[in-house]
Amino acid sequence: MKLRLTRAQEELRDSLRAFLDAELPPEHEEGPESAEWAPDEEYEWIRAFNRRMGAAGWLVPHWPVEYGGRGLGILEQVIVREELAYRRAPLINPNGLSMLGPILMKEGTEEQKALHLPGIASGDVIWAQGYSEPNAGSDLAALQMRAERDGDEYVLNGQKTWTSSGMRAQWMFLLARTSKEKRRQEGITFLLVDMRTPGIEVRPIASMTGTVTFAEEFFTDVRVPIENRVGEEGDGWRVGKSLLSFERSNIARAARERRILDDLIAYCRTQAGTLRDPLADPIARSELGRMIERVEVGRAICYRVAAMQAEGHVPPHMASISKLYHSEFAAELVDVGSRLLGEYGNVMPGDPHCLARGQFSLGVMKQLLHKIGAGTSEIQRDIIAQTGAQLPKSAR
Ligand SMILES: Cc1cc2nc3c(=O)[nH]c(=O)nc-3n(C[C@H](O)[C@H](O)[C@H](O)COP(=O)(O)OP(=O)(O)OC[C@H]3O[C@@H](n4cnc5c(N)ncnc54)[C@H](O)[C@@H]3O)c2cc1C
Repeated sequence: MKLRLTRAQEELRDSLRAFLDAELPPEHEEGPESAEWAPDEEYEWIRAFNRRMGAAGWLVPHWPVEYGGRGLGILEQVIVREELAYRRAPLINPNGLSMLGPILMKEGTEEQKALHLPGIASGDVIWAQGYSEPNAGSDLAALQMRAERDGDEYVLNGQKTWTSSGMRAQWMFLLARTSKEKRRQEGITFLLVDMRTPGIEVRPIASMTGTVTFAEEFFTDVRVPIENRVGEEGDGWRVGKSLLSFERSNIARAARERRILDDLIAYCRTQAGTLRDPLADPIARSELGRMIERVEVGRAICYRVAAMQAEGHVPPHMASISKLYHSEFAAELVDVGSRLLGEYGNVMPGDPHCLARGQFSLGVMKQLLHKIGAGTSEIQRDIIAQTGAQLPKSAR
């Protein structure tokens, strides 16, 4: 495994840096709240910025040229994602870019690819992921949304919840039950749904930070044409799970952590010589040293996973180790940061005494999200135990 970038990879990164210098003013860098939750006016700016990134080929550089990419490799994509995240470039369509796009390339019909991939690559069409239901989260196979066949259509009834981008997405990919089988994982089908179809009601779910962060959707006799099915009827569990095998390195998270730590160190330097100088405190220095070590370990894990992916295979426990590491470390980092900021550590954005854009105060509130979204830490540990140590399957 080579640990140094090639000349071509360095040039790629430099050209992205030049693009971001020109196109991303500091006031539009992604704040501690995710870009997809931004207020309307800011969101419109972010959409336009995403379209400019799409036009310049920065959204999906690793996709084949015919689908709107540049035909580059996994490691180049990792370099681009790392730079984008470190610069806090706001991306608003992770579900389309990292989940649906790769699934369609692998499993979709030519018509589905032609219809949907260009809109993702250009930054025009936003997708939501409709997996979770009120009684199906970690235990996803418990999902109950029904899709009954009626001629050339499926008729959907049921509910989805905790949908990121749910208030803004134009399309949703979802899992629904097309038949009742003995094994709960059977009889599930993967469908693409235009969210403007009659019978869909989208309701916002507000979070404790005050912003609307999720949506829940109610489906009543929603008609979806069969050509919107990806894979065979009843094969949705396999299709739906395969999306987990695409974006595995977690490099964006590692880059965000590095940036947060750099901001924290920069803040500490501004306090040099004052009575509150954290760098004069041996305990604070030791905490910072530990954070620097953890950032380096986290980045190394991401590059290891990416190198495995480039070679064609990532064992499931490696991707879970990366997810688990970054979810837990992100929480630790904001906790250390808020303590080093002292009495200002919990001051929220909007208050004149708020420091570091509120990324530590809000981060402490939000840290739990990372440990739940995309599979909870408990589930990741279970996967690691099962596939990393070849333990028997759990009852899950
Ligand atoms: C930031 C964020 C974004 C999200 N975005 C989306 C989205 O876009 N689309 C979507 O469909 N969903 C989304 N979700 C939902 C997410 O997938 C679920 O929250 C997650 O799968 C957990 O399911 P649950 O909330 O029902 O909790 P539960 O599954 O009920 O879990 C509750 C607790 O029990 C533990 N637990 C459950 N089973 C086991 C077990 N077998 N062993 C040990 N412990 C266990 C869990 O770890 C957890 O601590 C998002 C969630 C978050 C936080």
